[in-house]
Amino acid sequence: MADSETRFIFITGGVVSSLGKGIAAASIGRLLVSRGFDVQLQKFDPYINVDPGTMSPYQHGEVFVTEDGAETDLDLGHYERFTDANTSRASNVTAGGIYNTVIRRERRGDYLGATVQVVPHITDEIKQRIKLMAESTEVDFVITEIGGTVGDIESLPFLEAIRQFPVDVGRRRCMFIHLTLVPYIGHAGELKTKPTQHSVNELRRIGIAPDMVVCRSESLLSADIRRKIALFASLPVEAVVSARDVADIYQVPLVFRTEGVDDYVVSEHFGLEAPPPDLGAWEAVTRRASEATERVRIALVGKYVKLEDAYLSVVEALHHAAVHHGCKIDVEWVDSEAVGEQVVAEKLAAADGILIPGGFGGRGIEGKIHAARIARERRIPYLGICLGMQIAVSEFARHVAGMQGANSTEFDLETPFPVIDLLPEQKEIADMGGTMRLGADPVKLHDSTRLRELYGEAVIYERHRHRYEVNNHLRRRLESAGLICSGTSPDERLVEAIELSADVHPFFVASQYHPEFKSRPERPAPLFREFVGAARKAARAPAAQAPGRAPASA
Ligand code: GLN
Repeated sequence: MADSETRFIFITGGVVSSLGKGIAAASIGRLLVSRGFDVQLQKFDPYINVDPGTMSPYQHGEVFVTEDGAETDLDLGHYERFTDANTSRASNVTAGGIYNTVIRRERRGDYLGATVQVVPHITDEIKQRIKLMAESTEVDFVITEIGGTVGDIESLPFLEAIRQFPVDVGRRRCMFIHLTLVPYIGHAGELKTKPTQHSVNELRRIGIAPDMVVCRSESLLSADIRRKIALFASLPVEAVVSARDVADIYQVPLVFRTEGVDDYVVSEHFGLEAPPPDLGAWEAVTRRASEATERVRIALVGKYVKLEDAYLSVVEALHHAAVHHGCKIDVEWVDSEAVGEQVVAEKLAAADGILIPGGFGGRGIEGKIHAARIARERRIPYLGICLGMQIAVSEFARHVAGMQGANSTEFDLETPFPVIDLLPEQKEIADMGGTMRLGADPVKLHDSTRLRELYGEAVIYERHRHRYEVNNHLRRRLESAGLICSGTSPDERLVEAIELSADVHPFFVASQYHPEFKSRPERPAPLFREFVGAARKAARAPAAQAPGRAPASA
């Protein structure tokens, strides 16, 4: 980099939502990282919730948890997976969070009698969050994605703030990239540029002239269409990028590279010098993914199976593990509320691996316990995450350790065997938002366990998001029945992971923490890597799956 100043790239979206702004932002991030720059990404969400932690997964998709314990938008997961840099609390800012700060300041009397207004008080606070990101991380680039679509009432204060931003830091340090859709109209047999024209105009009305327009479309835009868009957007044709649909999101940085996005951003726009991107390892991952033919079936048993985004990082982590093993994953979505039914039970029995991810609330719990039982008894590789570990413990307590009716007190306050109970520090808490055990904590892995072996380290740091834990009063009884507590907090007070011995089960491991959040395409999370490895083995040895598969007693 020619100097140590941070540059700011703002990404807006137009025409329709769900264009993949997060992936576009993350892909530009990846290209800049591959050219040797330090990059941090940030997402602005125009809703009033302070964070997405209390929203239903059907509203919002997955809640992504950062290392420092913020509950954030799922786009931050893309940012981390693409740039391999951890995000933080500062990386996700909502309108609710901004208003919360400003209103608290007003109550303290900090505005000294002024009328507190959207402009300048809200917009100042938004700009402050961008500057904070640059100051706290000292990176070469901050990329800020503005959630929503240009034209939404909600996003106006954010757009106004980024319009003002160049005045504060200098125009030459800022770049505006606008992502739009160029739809293909079948009966006309044409790609249509009109919605993009309208969207660019809408942005201009707000006072922002885009420096680059990235156009999503089914196929590559012709030179003519790019020229046309360039003309009305007052841009050189190189600043109009054709982002055609691809089968695998991890190919997007490669498409952008081919289209010259990073050259335009780095050299043309900012006038910086940098070596060409080193994308060798990234290309290898996408190549392995596209060449894989072997298929492994993973049954994912959850409550929100109608919306895949609800389990986004889990699915991505499975994909990373599959790339490592050179196979593909077929996710069988199994609705836990229907899991007792014959058909579903058959679906589970035919799976090469069963995964129960995190979750909240009592609906579908018995179905999940049934699924864990099938996995244990039929020796189907099992991975339980958070709630999936708690389910495995309840199932083991009921059917192996002789604790009939064992359950988590989250679902049954009267259970005779509360094997899962509230964390002591959770007992007095009434607020729902941001009050769980959140973020990365050290986990001690015990010697001679599968977990210790598969991580190859004695202490790991993994991210948490839960209120309940294994009940220490019943822990010894579970252990003497054969449950191995292979991971604990360093003081051994909290159970962080459990497993069954390799003598009784090929792979039965579950963690209280969420390994999916730290999985990267080039570095799959160890738990996922070994789980998919075990499932692949099961897929390759169908004999072992035949009815003769002996039930495991412990
Ligand atoms: N509901 C459980 C708890 O709060 C599990 C949480 C989760 O799976 N993320 O402990």
